[in-house]
Amino acid sequence: MRTFSRASVETIRGRGGIVLEKRLIETPLLDPRRRFQLVGQRIELRRDPITGLWTRINIERAIRFKETMAKPSEESLKREASHAKCPFCSEKVEIATPKYPCTLIKEGRIKRGEAILFPNLHPFAKYHAVVTLSRDHFLELHKLGEERLLDALWVARYFYMIVREKEPEYRYLLINLNYLPPAGASIVHPHLQVVIEDHPTNLLALAEMKAREYSEKYRSNIIHDYISTERNLKERYLFGTEHSEWTASFAPLANGEVIGIIRDAFFRDMNEERLADVSHDLFKVISAYSKLFPHRGINMTLAYCADDIIPPHVRIVVRPSMSDRYVNDRGFMEVLHREVVVEMAPENVALLLRKAL
Ligand SMILES: [Zn+2]
Repeated sequence: MRTFSRASVETIRGRGGIVLEKRLIETPLLDPRRRFQLVGQRIELRRDPITGLWTRINIERAIRFKETMAKPSEESLKREASHAKCPFCSEKVEIATPKYPCTLIKEGRIKRGEAILFPNLHPFAKYHAVVTLSRDHFLELHKLGEERLLDALWVARYFYMIVREKEPEYRYLLINLNYLPPAGASIVHPHLQVVIEDHPTNLLALAEMKAREYSEKYRSNIIHDYISTERNLKERYLFGTEHSEWTASFAPLANGEVIGIIRDAFFRDMNEERLADVSHDLFKVISAYSKLFPHRGINMTLAYCADDIIPPHVRIVVRPSMSDRYVNDRGFMEVLHREVVVEMAPENVALLLRKAL
């Protein structure tokens, strides 16, 4: 349990057992920008109700985050737009990307529309595939269109079905995106990475543990109750449809985080029409993100577990800009202490995203 000197605590009780916990701290300094006047810097610590992890927000930085966004340099954009060596470009994809053995996938790769699924050449999981999202080498995500997203989700789902038929214990499906180098993409050509696992990742394991405890105590699902709390509070809530529901996160895992739940059992019994509906909603969010944060890196994960302990859900975050002199947003706090510091207030993110949706 954490204790803070001169910290004030604010808790908001939501649906079921959901508690949104904030600790507000003010630290004094003599500010050189104001003739060394005494000012208080306000810091907020917020606890993610889904994982129990703490995030820090410097409110001063959060208020002016729009001005601090680095602009992408023309040169870095031009360099990335060059596709001479890209193995995912249509003319090279057939010869430069690996294939699965025919015992797993008859044709070696799975194709639909512009989406092509093939093994990652440098995998970090037994089933770790790449899905190209487009023939275009450099594409802003709002220009992707929901059709191409649907094709990519379809091939990912098909791959998952093949793997599960062979190895049913591989029940975790993670559909991930590193968009642009500041978000960890080594190739700018837009692509998803599909990871199928027999065990949860660290954060999913935390979320599952919390969900189990919560379900025993409140006979309800923690993520559903959290989203429902956000819907009632309206501070960070974005929108909901018959198929999915979206909100800016109370305690983000990185700047600008949006979390969405998918109502259907997604990859278990979802038909083509439902997959199209989910693609429609997901594209709406991705597109708003891309317009609001042009040329910034974006990470996304869509996590599904056949056990249904936690519902299929999506997390999307914004990363630094495509600038040659960008400042990495992962420092000692994130890397060595697993504690996130963000500079975008979630309520601001919700306001801006609502306009872009
Ligand atoms: Zn390419």
